[in-house]
Amino acid sequence: MSSRALDLLHSVFGYASFRGQQQAIVEHLAAGGDALVLMPTGGGKSLCYQIPALLRPGTAIVVSPLIALMQDQVDALREAGVAAAYLNSSLEADDQREVERRLLAGELKLLYVAPERLLTPRFLGLLERIGVGLFAIDEAHCVSQWGHDFRPEYRELTILHERFPQVPRIALTATADPRTREEIAERLGLAHARQFVSSFDRPNIRYHVALKHNPRTQLMQFLEGHRGEAGIVYALSRRKVDETAAGLADAGIEALPYHAGLDARTRAANQQRFLREDGVVMVATVAFGMGIDKPDVRFVAHLDLPRSMEGYYQETGRAGRDGLPAEAWMIYGLSDVVTMSQMIAQSDSADERKRIERQKLESLLAFAEATRCRRELLLGAFGEDYHGPCGNCDNCLEPPKTWDATVPAQKALSAVYRSGQRFGAGHVIDILRGVDGERVRQLGHDRLSTFGIGADIDEKGWRSVFRQLLAAGLLEADAEGYGTLRLTAASRAVLGGAQRVMLREDARPARSARRRRDS
Ligand code: ADP
Ligand code: ZN
Repeated sequence: MSSRALDLLHSVFGYASFRGQQQAIVEHLAAGGDALVLMPTGGGKSLCYQIPALLRPGTAIVVSPLIALMQDQVDALREAGVAAAYLNSSLEADDQREVERRLLAGELKLLYVAPERLLTPRFLGLLERIGVGLFAIDEAHCVSQWGHDFRPEYRELTILHERFPQVPRIALTATADPRTREEIAERLGLAHARQFVSSFDRPNIRYHVALKHNPRTQLMQFLEGHRGEAGIVYALSRRKVDETAAGLADAGIEALPYHAGLDARTRAANQQRFLREDGVVMVATVAFGMGIDKPDVRFVAHLDLPRSMEGYYQETGRAGRDGLPAEAWMIYGLSDVVTMSQMIAQSDSADERKRIERQKLESLLAFAEATRCRRELLLGAFGEDYHGPCGNCDNCLEPPKTWDATVPAQKALSAVYRSGQRFGAGHVIDILRGVDGERVRQLGHDRLSTFGIGADIDEKGWRSVFRQLLAAGLLEADAEGYGTLRLTAASRAVLGGAQRVMLREDARPARSARRRRDS
């Protein structure tokens, strides 16, 4: 069978060999097994179900939430001579009927369909009248409520297994977060499916993170190194997108805006130009990018913090899909953190959700302020055990200036320890700063020897110290997500004075005003 798979790879798709785990996945699925595939963007997920679709009898049904992507995939398949079609809201009634006719006549090898369409009783009825070869559920992370692409209809896709128990299913995602992975397996009834997890490392992407001081100038300087190249600049607000795009255009750069506030026509036109023309810079909110397959995006720049490590990885992952050198560049400032915290606090999400959002923001900041290899932290966030230096991130290429923070670190660690390793950073910082609050007093923490020993650093400063200690692995947060801090094996050496702690100079806390007056 593997020779048939290889034949198809050569003859239909024109590739010389399988990549990574593709062949194992293809064989597993073609033999009737269920699979959960985690592969980074650009890793080659499509072939994992397209080849089995050709190997198995019947029609493969591909569930995808992205209309634009469906169109591209179907065009490419047809060009390769594969009988493929899609059904979604963009089709005229006549065309829909024609697709259904071909489906019933058994003329299609692959049919792409939007989840809401798939779930209609009418469509499920159609499927019962044909032979379904397999179900592929693309962008499977849409089933996760904690992700940003949550689609309620994805929750109902278990019906596929209930109504068609003998048809193999494959769920695919580029989301690496272990929590999301578990949720996919559980929610889609794929707990027993074989999991194929690829490394999420993108060795050709160079990561660079800097403090924001003059965003406009910083961006211009960065773009200077990318003249004439295609790239994406992400900003948080629509207004900032418009202003930045206009500013870049004034400076003679082919820049276009993209956000949900633009009318559909303008959005589509800008996207087309970005895809088809060379060297267009898309300035966009996160509304842009999902399912965009442009291989030669040379850089992704973030003018504001993304929403999570996951978001950062997804967004930067749009760079360098052709495997050639690409750059992920980000600037962040304290005001971003404030804005983001406010956005979280003011959203109408449930408390549980807010807690997770805050935690995601914290780990992103830890990443931004880290002095260690960025790749190590990025992949570590997704449960991957990568060991730097990678030689292709700012921290590896040019180790950041640091200051000796051994004493504050010892104070922080000892406050965590003395309060019983049962509290989050907020409370421990209150202890360190000697904040005489109700909670502190109730718990008797005003009587701890560490109470008030860190009054020389303000709250913001301590937060930065804690984030960096987390990033350096000198503290760990509980896995349940309550933000409870605990010491690690490495903390002992610091507490015992055997190891010094160096933190980023550029994130060094200002001495707090109160102490300055005192001393
Ligand atoms: P994903 O869906 O994982 O982001 P795609 O399936 O779109 O990735 O594949 C990314 C790119 O890699 C596409 O241009 C695809 O044609 C190419 N590709 C996939 N598999 C192979 C392979 N075995 N050999 C060469 N190119 C491949
Ligand atoms: Zn590195």
